[in-house]
Amino acid sequence: MSEPSEKKESTGCKEFDQCLEYLYLMLDNEATDAQETYLKNHLESCMICFEQYEVEKHIKDLLKTRITKQPVPADLANIIRTKVFQSA
Ligand SMILES: [Zn+2]
Repeated sequence: MSEPSEKKESTGCKEFDQCLEYLYLMLDNEATDAQETYLKNHLESCMICFEQYEVEKHIKDLLKTRITKQPVPADLANIIRTKVFQSA
């Protein structure tokens, strides 16, 4: 009857697109309660989306920090370069 050939490893999520959409909404604080609940439930059982969530959250935090504390990213390279030269 049903094929027990579940060759699916942790490399695929059939709801990945959906999760990604909710994920971005949640990170932007624009997700509805239903979307947020769905995503949280899903993340508990789906490692792929959970990791994706962690990555996106991290990137967003980085961008946020950089925008508020470091208006021009190009300056950062110069600052680091100067510090390296001074400490050498
Ligand atoms: Zn998933």
